[in-house]
Amino acid sequence: MRYPEPIAKLIDSFMKLPGIGPKTAVRLAFFVLEMKEEDVFEFGKALVNAKRDLTNCSICQNITDRDPCYICDDSSRDRSVICVVQDSKDVMAMEKMKEYKGLYHVLHGAISPIDGIGPEDIKVPELLKRLSDDTIQELILATDPNIEGEATAMYIARLVKPVGIKTTRIAHGLPVGGDLEYADEVTLSKALEGRREL
Ligand SMILES: [Zn+2]
Repeated sequence: MRYPEPIAKLIDSFMKLPGIGPKTAVRLAFFVLEMKEEDVFEFGKALVNAKRDLTNCSICQNITDRDPCYICDDSSRDRSVICVVQDSKDVMAMEKMKEYKGLYHVLHGAISPIDGIGPEDIKVPELLKRLSDDTIQELILATDPNIEGEATAMYIARLVKPVGIKTTRIAHGLPVGGDLEYADEVTLSKALEGRREL
């Protein structure tokens, strides 16, 4: 038996989300059918608006609803340091800690030869462009503590060395194989404090 086309489409859409298998997709689709019409409408609008109204900051590549983003535009931030992270959720985690006052650069991924992801596929060229600004003295490489994150940090460190900008890597103590965004504030703060030069 086949589901009516609109339900089949809804199930397919849910299955495109991370961590959603066919069973969950069916459950979610039928849940939506039971929801109040206005709630479904709000849900749909939230999806479309988030995609339409958010863009990447032209400087740091963080997702933002204005360009440049609030952080890049904040004159009280320390413009000599850039913390390089894999995604926008990592910026949120760092900001929650309230200790870091520098700028960010969001790579939107990590180098992963196995998956065919090279430096040009993430925001490495955009990072290099920023380094011509000689106010920048340090790059804190805060990519995730896993193989891809380490490889990405090493790659950037090698690239930046000749430019004469200090590169540091956040300290271990973060769960290995983990994801920066899930580190608690104390761990993250310690990792930042204990960063070492590459
Ligand atoms: Zn920005």
